[in-house]
Amino acid sequence: MAKWIYSFEEGCADDKALLGGKGANLAEMTNLGLPVPPGFTITTESCIEYLKNPYFFESSLKEDVLKAVTVLEEKTGKYFSGNDSALLLVSVRSGAKFSMPGMMDTILNLGLNDLRTQTLAEQTNADFAYNCYRRLLQMFADVVYGISKDEFDNLLGYFERNAGKQAKDFTLDEHQALIDQYKQLYREHHQTFPQSSKEQLYAAIKAVFKSWNNPRAQVYRNLNNIPHDLGTAVNVQAMVFGNSDQASGTGVVFTRNPASGEHQLFGEFLLNAQGEDVVAGIRTPEPIAALETALPQAYAAFQDYAKILENHYKDMQDIEFTIEKGKLYILQTRNGKRTAKASLKIALDLVDEGIISKKEALQRVSPATISQLIHPVFEEKALQDAPFLAQGLPASPGAATGEIVFTAERAKDYHSLGKKVILVRQETSPEDIEGMVVSQAIVTSQGGMTSHAAVVARGMGTCCVAGCSELNISEESKTVSCGNLVLTEADVISVDGSSGRIYSGEIPTVLVENDQELQRLLSWADEVAQLKVRANAETVQDLKTAIKFGAKGIGLARTEHMFFGQERILEMRRLILADNELETRSALKRLLEFQEEDFYQMFQAVQDKPMIIRLLDPPMHEFLPKDSQEIKALADKLHKSPEKLTRRIEQLQESNPMLGHRGCRLGITQPEIYKMQVEAVFNSAIKLSQEGLTVKPEIMIPLIADKAELDSVKAFLIQHINKLFRHQGLEPFPYEIGTMIELPRACLVADQLAQEADFFSFGTNDLTQMTYGFSRDDIGKFIGHYKEKEILPFDPFQSVDQDGVGELMRIAISKGRQVKPELPIGICGEVGGDPASIPFFQEIGVTYVSCSPYRVPAARLAVAQAALQDKKS
Ligand code: PEP
Ligand code: MG
Repeated sequence: MAKWIYSFEEGCADDKALLGGKGANLAEMTNLGLPVPPGFTITTESCIEYLKNPYFFESSLKEDVLKAVTVLEEKTGKYFSGNDSALLLVSVRSGAKFSMPGMMDTILNLGLNDLRTQTLAEQTNADFAYNCYRRLLQMFADVVYGISKDEFDNLLGYFERNAGKQAKDFTLDEHQALIDQYKQLYREHHQTFPQSSKEQLYAAIKAVFKSWNNPRAQVYRNLNNIPHDLGTAVNVQAMVFGNSDQASGTGVVFTRNPASGEHQLFGEFLLNAQGEDVVAGIRTPEPIAALETALPQAYAAFQDYAKILENHYKDMQDIEFTIEKGKLYILQTRNGKRTAKASLKIALDLVDEGIISKKEALQRVSPATISQLIHPVFEEKALQDAPFLAQGLPASPGAATGEIVFTAERAKDYHSLGKKVILVRQETSPEDIEGMVVSQAIVTSQGGMTSHAAVVARGMGTCCVAGCSELNISEESKTVSCGNLVLTEADVISVDGSSGRIYSGEIPTVLVENDQELQRLLSWADEVAQLKVRANAETVQDLKTAIKFGAKGIGLARTEHMFFGQERILEMRRLILADNELETRSALKRLLEFQEEDFYQMFQAVQDKPMIIRLLDPPMHEFLPKDSQEIKALADKLHKSPEKLTRRIEQLQESNPMLGHRGCRLGITQPEIYKMQVEAVFNSAIKLSQEGLTVKPEIMIPLIADKAELDSVKAFLIQHINKLFRHQGLEPFPYEIGTMIELPRACLVADQLAQEADFFSFGTNDLTQMTYGFSRDDIGKFIGHYKEKEILPFDPFQSVDQDGVGELMRIAISKGRQVKPELPIGICGEVGGDPASIPFFQEIGVTYVSCSPYRVPAARLAVAQAALQDKKS
């Protein structure tokens, strides 16, 4: 018979799939001997069964729940039902395999009813008892019946105003009257609050199961690639009360600073408060260090447990605790979410502290994190002059400028218009998630470093300033004021998440240099990597950036990018539109001079590292003017008639340029361009070799489909190169000529191509385009629909399509290496820098991946992770 429920003593940390992260860790902590209030976990499998068939609860689960409650009663010596003086109250919390903070539901204080509240009031005090009962009524209404919590808050506010005092000072009668009004609110929604503890529990469990499918949980799963069929576990746990008295409290603490990674306890607590108060941002919590003075014994105990948990899990922990009348309880632990900066520092520190190995450290940091480390900061000079507005907590680093919006909805609207927005709210809640995702930065006036805004922003790597109380934010009137200044929607502000400072107006950003800590981790990555990482770059600036970021060479220098400067494009246009031999030669001569200078500087920048130079690829008309004004201006410069020019441009237009006169086809019809390019490459290489730098040119021919194309281009290139050396009276030095593999046919005849090619490089942009028949420039128009309808879960131009494009690559590699076993094979399409695709490239035997310079550090880590994963499997 299936087992649907596990007591905390029965599980362990490895049971996350079945018990959820929270349940598995509660079990692990129980078995470690930590002070965890007893309880049980209803499995994720039960949730899946229930969502398939609601009768499952009555038929299969209910009895087991009752038995588990009885065991809990025995363990605690308290009673869940009846008006016994030993009252057992429980919390019911969701907990899925992957942490989804705030996405699903929680109910506290279950088991209270009118009578039991009176008993509790007699045993403790009326304020405490009725406070607990009100919270239960409010959470139960929200979770089980979908009645907004605000309605209860409004009612409470109304009552307090009427009575002229706070609820904590109410008389018994006033408390009861308020409870009556809460229940009246239920009736207005045609619902009742069950007085039976068991009925409350059943309804709560079912509601938590259902919350797996609530819209915000679904959005969160989509964003974080969490499968939708896992289900959530439900944890039922004996309540302990942080709101009992001034020797009680509750808090959330990270064992290290989640923003900077510093090795010190970091977090907040509230005295005389219950769990949700800390994260809800209603009262301002105190920093955890203050607990040492407030409740020294509990603080000392917490320090010990924090250490035990960190050593046990070998990672920074995010711990929730409650103190009830001086006694500390641990309610949850999990690996803490952290910023990119903290992630790196913690991984390195844990190695230095002997807790994890270098290889483990490499697996602790995600490549996406590395990308965030190379984040923008404000330009120093511009920052000095920027009008300072206010300062809050530096909740998540980064620098961003954008237009203010006050709701998640508006953030989405503006974003869809291509605008950069900054979401400004008093406090964010899980409903805001979609707006937060599209925002450049998030600013809140309330809440601390563990508030929803701070935690979620850090997880997403989005810049955030939280708890900026100087700002007076009115979401209703869509204004934010600071002193005398009032800003409204669409006003521009700049936010520095590292300092917590906010400025009005726009400030330009720059990218920070990668620091020593990153270098250290990446040097370990290079030690274990099998695949090499090169970069796609052609400007000297980009080449230098790529080398600084650790690229082992240049996998693709696209030469067409070198013709776009004003002077150059004129000569290129002169060449394309030449009417006679003289004009052609004069344009080629000028272009040769430009290219020689380009290649000279590029070879100097990469020094002894390999660099693959690709000959011109795009169709000619891409270099020509588009509108009549531009045509007229060009005609003047070239001393030609605008009409003639227009006719020539029309002749060059193609129906399907991507399938047209481009790549090697251009080389075949107009060999003088390719000849000019190799002449420039070799002249600069010869010059540099005479200056003492050894250069080995690698020339790549684009868009080859057939061996005969390669033969033809290669033949005239070699002839031309030989002529160059002859003219200079030199012996030819080593060089290579290879081909891009970017057409399906090239993959299928790769054995033939390998006979002539010194290397292959997969142009997966074109290969994907030609394999799917999706235009690489138009996929944005439909990929959203494809993803939504789950026809394609990802964009194949960003992550390799292993089944189709990948299969062609496998064929090409196997055929190529049958002819040349040592054939170097690279990837220079966009997917080359995609961490998710890299393990596949390693598996199929690629030699290196090549990506844009800023993606190099993340790719270095990804190739190391792929190598470690490979060894493991
Ligand atoms: C490719 O097709 O993948 C490639 C790298 O070439 P380009 O993007 O320049 O067409
Ligand atoms: Mg291409």
